[in-house]
Amino acid sequence: MSNIEQTLSIIKPDAVERNLDNEIKQMFLKNEFNIIKEKKIQIEKSEAEKFYKVHETKPFYNDLCSYLSSGPIIAMILEKENAVADNRKLMGATNPNDAEEGTIRKKYGISIDKNSVHGSDSVENAKIEIDFFFKN
Ligand code: UDP
Ligand code: MG
Repeated sequence: MSNIEQTLSIIKPDAVERNLDNEIKQMFLKNEFNIIKEKKIQIEKSEAEKFYKVHETKPFYNDLCSYLSSGPIIAMILEKENAVADNRKLMGATNPNDAEEGTIRKKYGISIDKNSVHGSDSVENAKIEIDFFFKN
């Protein structure tokens, strides 16, 4: 039985700034993700605060929202079987130092905050996050 899902991926400012977007997109394509929609944008800090609202009580929340709004990002809808879990696996651990070889964060991440990519953590959140960026 097939279980085609969509998930939201973001190429974060540190990676866009280093022109890694094409290399990262190639990693998605090589791993059988289809890129259904994409857009390059810069968001306001207030929008980043909304996007990361689940983290609002965390000590890193303010820096995280400043960072996500600090430069252009690329938001993408990725689709494949088990897209949510497979994307989390391809991204690697939140801290690039803990990420496995071959993962995006291991290859490109600089630090726990500049870790190059975002990926939805559940099918439910994927829907919310896709709407956040792609619902007109
Ligand atoms: N983050 C951070 N410091 C921390 C934990 C997280 O700066 O101690 C940032 C990091 O960029 C991470 C984002 O906050 O990607 C969201 O955290 P989450 O735990 O949801 O990690 P993710 O789902 O991105 O792996
Ligand atoms: Mg998360």
